[in-house]
Amino acid sequence: MFRIYRPYVFPDEIDPAIGKDLKRLGVKFEPILHADTDAIVCLLATKVDAALLARVPKLRVVSNVAVGVDNIDVPACTARGVVVTNTPDVLTEATADLAWALLLAAARRVPESERYVREGKWKQWDWTALRGHDVHGRTLGILGAGRIGQATGHRAVGFSMEVLYTSRQRRLLFEHTTQARRVDFKALLRQSDFLSIHVPLNKETRHLVGSRELAMMKPGAILINTARGAIVDEAALAKALKSGRLAAAGLDVFEHEPKIHPDLLKLDNVVILPHIGSATETTRRRMVETALRNCLAALKGEVPPNALNAHALNLKG
Ligand code: NAP
Repeated sequence: MFRIYRPYVFPDEIDPAIGKDLKRLGVKFEPILHADTDAIVCLLATKVDAALLARVPKLRVVSNVAVGVDNIDVPACTARGVVVTNTPDVLTEATADLAWALLLAAARRVPESERYVREGKWKQWDWTALRGHDVHGRTLGILGAGRIGQATGHRAVGFSMEVLYTSRQRRLLFEHTTQARRVDFKALLRQSDFLSIHVPLNKETRHLVGSRELAMMKPGAILINTARGAIVDEAALAKALKSGRLAAAGLDVFEHEPKIHPDLLKLDNVVILPHIGSATETTRRRMVETALRNCLAALKGEVPPNALNAHALNLKG
């Protein structure tokens, strides 16, 4: 029998093969962490740090139902011999779709226009009202051309946009399919009409976009963040938006979720979403299935397909 700490509810339907495996292994899901918990299947809200690890000496695996693992102290898990896994790929397209939803909504002032109608302000067709910004033909800058960054860049081809990207590695296939150009971070800031953030949150990327970087952006540029809130200095962003230095922003993520910086909440030129990048029925089900497959593999003594510290733990498949 295995005890799995799972502080949230599953979707109704998952792959029956996983259900069978769970039954065969005698897995018991529990909403409370016990001293003999074998595995954790968690969301971003669960912080897995050295203090939590000290309470679960039998723990074998932390299976995050997310691709980002900034809620998990991976080195501390490795030091304890605990495998950490995530759910890459299955959420890539849904998150790129949402980056585009934000980009279009911010550029064309969609939520603001909707509020205008619902608040009864639309009295007659107005030539000057709610003018936004062109998307087609402009320049999209991708900060972090990994899975989601590239998927976001691919969509720009249909909008006849020029695509720039900053990543430590060159992405030749991405360049081939989108005509994207790799530039350094400063050039990305200076040349992009839209800057879309797709780097993971870590020590290097915390507040990577602060007041200095915002001041380097093109006047009237639009910032989109579907990665993690703490990559952007929110107070500095609110200042840049209020002054009109930036035209708009589209944000799905915030530094202290679910709290949102009060200065951002006051602004009409920010589209604010409650961290729904991967929130489609299909994607969320696939994320849970991926997390469970990772967890079950670890419990069976196999190397999980998405083990992040397999190398450090010297696990061989
Ligand atoms: P990924 O494939 O690992 O892509 C991240 C890319 O960032 C990597 O390819 C890496 O490329 C680049 N990178 C890392 N550090 C960098 C740095 N300091 N400067 C420039 N580039 C850097 O991850 P993904 O699957 O695309 O996911 C990206 C992030 O999106 C996740 O970490 C997560 O936080 C976020 N996310 C949010 C939602 C949501 O609901 N809003 C949903 C899914 C994911 P190089 O190695 O070439 O630099």
